[in-house]
Amino acid sequence: MQAHAGLPALKGMLVSSLISSWKKFTQRIALPATVLALGLSVSGLLFSSLNRSREGYDAARLSRAISSVQSRMHARYLSYEDALRGAAGFLAADQHVGPAEWHLYLSRLGMRDPSHGTDGMVVLEPVPTVRLADFQAERRRQNPSFTIRPIPGSSAPEAPLAEHFIVAMAEPDATVGLDFSTESRRRTAAENARDSGTPVLSHGVVYAIAGKPYKGVELFVPVYREGAPTATVEERRQALAAWTVAAFTIDAFMQDALANINGLVSAQLFDGPANVENLMFAPGGALPKDATPQKVGPFERITHMDLAGDTWTLGWSRASQFPTVSRTPAAWSAGCTALLSIILAGLIVTLQSTGRRAHAIAADRTKELAQALRDADAANRAKSEFLANMSHEIRTPMNGVLGMTALLLDSPLTEDQRDLAQTALTSGESLLKILNDILDFSKIEAGKLDIASEPFDLEEAVASVADLLAPAAAQKGIELALRWSPGTPRTVIGDGGRLRQVLMNLVGNAVKFTSHGHVLLAVECTGQTADRAVIHFSVEDTGIGIPEDVQKIIFRKFTQADGSITRRFGGTGLGLAVSTELVNLMGGQLQVRSTVGQGSTFSFSLPLSTSAAAPPAAVIPRGARVLIADPEPLSCEILSKALAEWKIGFQVASSTQDLVRIVASDHEPFDIALVDHRFWEDCEAELKRSLPGRHALQNIRLVVLAPLGLRGDVRRYLDGRFAGWITKPLRPSHVAQALSAAYRSPVPVLSR
Ligand code: ADP
Repeated sequence: MQAHAGLPALKGMLVSSLISSWKKFTQRIALPATVLALGLSVSGLLFSSLNRSREGYDAARLSRAISSVQSRMHARYLSYEDALRGAAGFLAADQHVGPAEWHLYLSRLGMRDPSHGTDGMVVLEPVPTVRLADFQAERRRQNPSFTIRPIPGSSAPEAPLAEHFIVAMAEPDATVGLDFSTESRRRTAAENARDSGTPVLSHGVVYAIAGKPYKGVELFVPVYREGAPTATVEERRQALAAWTVAAFTIDAFMQDALANINGLVSAQLFDGPANVENLMFAPGGALPKDATPQKVGPFERITHMDLAGDTWTLGWSRASQFPTVSRTPAAWSAGCTALLSIILAGLIVTLQSTGRRAHAIAADRTKELAQALRDADAANRAKSEFLANMSHEIRTPMNGVLGMTALLLDSPLTEDQRDLAQTALTSGESLLKILNDILDFSKIEAGKLDIASEPFDLEEAVASVADLLAPAAAQKGIELALRWSPGTPRTVIGDGGRLRQVLMNLVGNAVKFTSHGHVLLAVECTGQTADRAVIHFSVEDTGIGIPEDVQKIIFRKFTQADGSITRRFGGTGLGLAVSTELVNLMGGQLQVRSTVGQGSTFSFSLPLSTSAAAPPAAVIPRGARVLIADPEPLSCEILSKALAEWKIGFQVASSTQDLVRIVASDHEPFDIALVDHRFWEDCEAELKRSLPGRHALQNIRLVVLAPLGLRGDVRRYLDGRFAGWITKPLRPSHVAQALSAAYRSPVPVLSR
């Protein structure tokens, strides 16, 4: 049963596989076959068109040769006719023309010249049978050898003739006395000429010249008596006096006509339709030799000539000298085209099969590569997971070590012990930072790092970074400033912790690679809708800068601008790699602009959702006036912007001279002065010196601006003359709080 069921299925499979193979085969050969077919058709067309033009050229050449021969034949015939007509006129004009005059006339005509072509010219006279004996007697008186005799070889006429046509005068003389009426062709031609009054050619006659037979013709021109009427046949018969007759052999006639075309064509001439009986001329001689019948044709062209009432037929063929245009160039061109198309088709087949092979190889390699990529990816993931686990495992005991060290530092220790414990704590913290970076990076690579989405205080996040790094900046003597652009939303939704981490890294690097000047952390809202804002963060420093070619690689993991940097500044080269990934995850892109020796700016923008912000509360009453006294231009700029946003009037003194000028010229008292902690003593000294007795700035609320680390020192200044303090880096919210607290405090009334 199974065998029965399997057989049709097998057949079906076989058929479908055959069909699909056939389809593939036809697809493959479609293009080369088309090219081949086109090529072969083009070569066929080329061959036939070249051949046609070749044949046309040959045909034209043949026509030219034929018409040249025929014109020559015609011209020759006309020259005979003219000579005979002349003779006829001569005879009609003079009744007494005798043999002597006749010979003279013919010699003047050039008749004896071989080139003239005629074989004889005679004067034929009609003599009634009854007068035949008298005629002979008459003639004998002048020429005793004159004897009337029939044409040799002619058979006697069937019926007795009433009239005879006797050669009266002749050139050559031998023919004198011949009776033309005894031979039917000549007799008919003579009668026709007489009756019609026009020249008439006899049909082919045979001459014996020097014992050899030649075919020839004779042209008869009638001579009528002068003055006799010749309008009708009867009148012409009555008026006939004689005929002038020229005889010529066709061989000589045709040889002469053909002489000019140098054997290009050969011709056969027929008196009437083209057949053996009518053959008058053939290249080998018209008369059969050795009784071999002449062959007629085949001809390439047949033409007709009407001469003196007779129609001659000419059969033409090319002779050996005919310069037939060769078929070879046409055959070569067509052959080359065909060969080219075969080569082209072959080339296409080869290219197609090479292409298929390349395709197959590429597909195999792609598969292998994809597999290799998957393997590498899996290995990388495994490594990242391992690293993440390891870092996590190390971090726990590490925190223990740090906690213990901190406790140790709080216990009573000698100076040396404290130093050692402090170093252990700092080193541990550095190690922990590295571990954190590695952990983050591994998490990112393993795709396990999630970005939180919860409301946070953006200003607080940014400012805390500045606060944390301010002591390090202060220690290096560089200014770390925070510029919070007015209108930037405070509460946003996102991952505050990760944002802080990125900013810590960027600001940390900026402080690390800057030895003088400033580091500015700027936050600005570059686009806002009702519930979303695009916040631009930038960290600008005036540090060592990064060469252009290095800028591209610092975002890769474990990369530092220069090997010596690790030795000078430490670091793992992971910070920027982690930051880049974090910024990407938060929807931004970290970028750098930097000039070696002038500094760098790292920046990125994040799209963040915003929470409905409370309208900004009035800081201090409008109309209150504030003096800013700070030599740091960045601080002055930040404070000015904040005060301008709150619509508070202010003046800026960034040097002691400025301050003296402002105090000297300003009549309106200031309510509050914001003064830099280091600048204040200089200001006081300068004011006392320049404006003695003005008690300048004595009755004003002073708010001191000082870095966080110097809080203890600032307290020392708060000897009753200071109404408040603001830590640097300045945060707008702190400035606002400090201003309103100071405004509420009483104006100090100080005695000198
Ligand atoms: P590291 O933890 O070693 O600092 P980062 O990824 O944070 O690694 O930085 C990589 C390298 O980029 C640094 O080693 C330093 O060469 C260069 N770099 C980063 N920030 C700055 C900057 N603000 N000024 C100059 N060079 C910097």
